[in-house]
Amino acid sequence: MTDAAPPDPGPVRRCGTDWTWVLTRRCPDCGFDAAIVRGEDAAAILADAKSRYAAVLGRPDVRARPFAGVWSPLEYACHVRDVCEVMTGRLAQILGGGGDLATFADWDQDAAATQGQYWRRDPRVVEREVTDSLGAASAAYGLPEGEQWQWPALRSNGSRFTAETLAQYFAHDVRHHLWDVRG
Ligand SMILES: [Zn+2]
Repeated sequence: MTDAAPPDPGPVRRCGTDWTWVLTRRCPDCGFDAAIVRGEDAAAILADAKSRYAAVLGRPDVRARPFAGVWSPLEYACHVRDVCEVMTGRLAQILGGGGDLATFADWDQDAAATQGQYWRRDPRVVEREVTDSLGAASAAYGLPEGEQWQWPALRSNGSRFTAETLAQYFAHDVRHHLWDVRG
């Protein structure tokens, strides 16, 4: 990076990190309703998000945080790119286990944002990256069949998932962050 890097905008505020309630209640913000979204719907939701995030990343104010302590659209897009990689890996872990309980390693999203210096990234590069990550995730979530959707997993905080609820949780995350950035 040859030009002056933007300054570190500091940490963001979080109102809780456990979003597993979205599996049982409609999200009042983005409208996602897990009761009507199946595991096999995730692939299409992820594919649909590609062009929407790309459009967000083309905005001139993509680096601007809307409020102090809230990620900019660029930072959200970097987060979604990294979420895609984590969630694609987690699904592969479930499928690779052949129905045995998969245990997910912890992922600290705030540490990932800090270490990845999301605020410094080039929006044009992130546009390609998030498009590729959503495409790969969409392909991966198109793979499970039949009872594989019910294969179990455990997150490090004790939350239980199946491939299907993981897909619902992931699809909500991608949709919700579009709501966050008005995408
Ligand atoms: Zn939501």
